Amino acid sequence: MNDHKTYHRCGVCEQRKNNGIFLYQMYLCHECEQEIISVRPDEDHYSYYVGKLRAINQSTYTI
Ligand SMILES: [Zn+2]
Repeated sequence: MNDHKTYHRCGVCEQRKNNGIFLYQMYLCHECEQEIISVRPDEDHYSYYVGKLRAINQSTYTI
């Protein structure tokens, strides 16, 4: 697609990365993507990521 070497700020860890994907409007770096995939619903982490993902969903309605 476009310049995939462009750095974007990851919406989860808030670091600038160039190895991530766009999930709706939020950029998600590879590390966080893997983290989310590996997280299980019974882990404390999970609600943190779910909250982040909910924020993305909500933001799609503001376009
Ligand atoms: Zn990240």
